[in-house]
Amino acid sequence: MKVVSFVDSFGCLVFNSTLDKNDRRLLRKQTYLQKTDCYFSAEGGINRSRIHPDVEATLAYMIYGIFTADTFIVDRGVSQHFADTFNACTNKTISPVNPELAPRSVNTQHQVHGLAFSGGVDSCAALWMLPKDESVAVFIKRDPTIPDKKHKGKAAQRSCEVLSSKGYKIEQVISDFETVRYKIGFPVDWSIYTGMLVLTDRYDFISSNCGMVFESAFRIGHSFFSDLETRKVFFEWCPLFEAIGMPVSFPTSITSEVLTSKIVVDHCADWKSQSCVLGGEKPCGKCVKCFRKTILDAKISGNRIPAEYYNVVNRSSVVNQFVSKDPIKHENVFAYSLLDNPPLGESAIYSSLLEKIAPRQLLSRDYGFLERIYTPGLKYIHPQLHEHILNKLHLIAEDMTQDDIAFLENWDVR
Ligand SMILES: [Zn+2]
Repeated sequence: MKVVSFVDSFGCLVFNSTLDKNDRRLLRKQTYLQKTDCYFSAEGGINRSRIHPDVEATLAYMIYGIFTADTFIVDRGVSQHFADTFNACTNKTISPVNPELAPRSVNTQHQVHGLAFSGGVDSCAALWMLPKDESVAVFIKRDPTIPDKKHKGKAAQRSCEVLSSKGYKIEQVISDFETVRYKIGFPVDWSIYTGMLVLTDRYDFISSNCGMVFESAFRIGHSFFSDLETRKVFFEWCPLFEAIGMPVSFPTSITSEVLTSKIVVDHCADWKSQSCVLGGEKPCGKCVKCFRKTILDAKISGNRIPAEYYNVVNRSSVVNQFVSKDPIKHENVFAYSLLDNPPLGESAIYSSLLEKIAPRQLLSRDYGFLERIYTPGLKYIHPQLHEHILNKLHLIAEDMTQDDIAFLENWDVR
């Protein structure tokens, strides 16, 4: 794979890729490269000379990495340190190397924490936790000409406007990089950070934050406990972020989805957060995210939902598939949401969902611990943020007990 990059007459950063013969063998895969070029634009135009070559290479790899068989050739030579890290963690080789180039370092006077912002609940909770004056949230806005009726992004846009009016520093980067892949979408989960990497032309980011909750970082509520740092996806990518001086950081890795929802319900209710991406400006009410959120919010707020709402399980095939899984994804949150939260009126579906999770020894437990802080997750938060985040969270939540932590770390419902 060879990737060239340049800034066009509109001030957009453009990437163009050429496959080599080994890459072409990958094209038979289900997800394939359908377009070789893409662009990023930001207010005021992009100053490529301010983007470190190692950062630009990481950005290019986030887009074209999954289509690369073994050799990744970039436009500007990368530092030796970056090349060594890249070769070790991806099992591919990057070139050229510029032996004169020092790895990226930032101005200690102006350093800021970046947040990949989606407008969803976990993202808003992460923003709430970060120090307002030292953070910049970056939203990637999909090129409006891309035909896709489902993902309108209007809700996130509205959330950005609300937050800007409240004095949060929110940036938007427009891009069509999702069209590089068939089917349209982020090539890898880490692509949420592309906007932030582009904006290193103006911000001295020292961390790459996103709203990954502990259910995802530690697979709580999945089949069994699994620490992110033991998973392939971690050691394939995280060293690259370290090498460019922007280590990944997950403020919400110490909080359950329950606690992030409580934060949003109790402290950011007017931020217009919306995790549903199917409904345009309003949640669709029919997708899995809407289903889970409706039940969880009812539990948190104490406002019971009508029994008829549960009929969505029969009406929506995606919700039906979701509750048919074993275990149900983030089943701990689901158990918390269902317990002591009966709908108004009789619902056979509600009863059958309770029955489904009953055998897993989980119902005998008080789920209040999901409202507490999982301190071992601090290892996934930038050290400079620990004090601020803990001080802020301790205003609304306690730390988990040793017993809570042991229960979580022994999570196994196989
Ligand atoms: Zn929805």
